[in-house]
Amino acid sequence: MSRQTGRHFLQIPGPTNTPLAVLAAIAKPTIDHRGPEFGRLGLQVLADIRTIFKTRQPVIIYPASGTGAWEAALVNVLSPGDQVLMAETGWFATLWKTMAARLQLDTTFIEGDWRSGIDASQIEARLADDKQHRIKAVAVVHNETSTGVTSDIAAVRRAIDRARHPALLLVDTISSLASIDYRHDEWGVDVTVGGSQKGLMLPPGLSFNAISEKARQAARNGKSVRSYWDWEDMLAANAKGYFPYTPSTNLLQGLKVAIELLHEEGLDAVFDRHKRAAEATRRAVQHWGFEVQCRNPAEYSPSLTAVRLPAGYSADRLRATILARCDISLGNGLGPLADTVFRIGHLGDFNDVSVAGTLSGIEMGMRICGIPYRSGGVDAAVEYMAGNGAPLAA
Ligand SMILES: *Cc1c(COP(=O)(O)O)cnc(C)c1O
Repeated sequence: MSRQTGRHFLQIPGPTNTPLAVLAAIAKPTIDHRGPEFGRLGLQVLADIRTIFKTRQPVIIYPASGTGAWEAALVNVLSPGDQVLMAETGWFATLWKTMAARLQLDTTFIEGDWRSGIDASQIEARLADDKQHRIKAVAVVHNETSTGVTSDIAAVRRAIDRARHPALLLVDTISSLASIDYRHDEWGVDVTVGGSQKGLMLPPGLSFNAISEKARQAARNGKSVRSYWDWEDMLAANAKGYFPYTPSTNLLQGLKVAIELLHEEGLDAVFDRHKRAAEATRRAVQHWGFEVQCRNPAEYSPSLTAVRLPAGYSADRLRATILARCDISLGNGLGPLADTVFRIGHLGDFNDVSVAGTLSGIEMGMRICGIPYRSGGVDAAVEYMAGNGAPLAA
């Protein structure tokens, strides 16, 4: 292998690039997870993470990928046979539904076209029909990472309220948390599921459940078999900053710094930066003459863009070419979108130049692969960012 020069561009929609300050914190010596220094760290991160979910209620941190936090949400609040209403926004919603079925929950999947977000009116209609209140939870994905579509969670909340239905609301924010505005308390969400490796700019390995008092009550009655994921064990130990089993000490050191970085920038500025990158990316894609997977402009994702290639061209070959020639990793099409769609991640730690560089690599890859496109997409993105940029910190 010859030496790879320059920096790798990790532009998949998670895991994302980890800032050096976070890497440095993770690289510090591992500490005693039952000692006083850890207790202080635990109390701090358990308090600070609430600001990211916009909640005053407890947030549980698991040493697990996001999928583990999904399982934790389901097995804590639900019992085998419980009905769960879900919305088919794409691949991740489908995985969540499959998991729920494996956990012996009775799932209803509102069908979708993988190009749009949750239709809250359908949720309202299903709940209004459920006079016996057999549906125990509505479980949805905020930002569908397979399609680049962001759903309106406040609208889902209103739909549940209008139907006067007591179902819990469970939301996957794994690819939106710390990239797209999200409000656990204000939107009345009962369990919010998050992960470390996307907007939080950490490596994979931590995941979260933000939980409401109603969810905690439901968990006291939940009959699913659970041990490792049990909230009460966690909350009891968390009260003093500790965990019932060995936590990811070094990732928690990184989490403390990642939260500091987010607040140093300001959450609103973080969200604006993601929106600006997404708009610049779409301008390039549209200039090239391609469609984005998301049909509805109001639902365009700020954290990633899924791009549809013209029929007859392989998105996987394009991605492989861009990786080999430009050292840029792009996301693949998932499930039925395999090879026809590729995904550009613009979330986590990036700036305008990372966006422009990524788009340049894509233009170069299309040229090499002989994919017909209108050149000038990078210019369109640069022109937009130049007119809408925030100044760099001095
Ligand atoms: C990445 C992602 C997941 C999967 O998380 P893992 O950490 O891979 O388990 C689930 N849902 C969404 C929306 C995601 O983006």
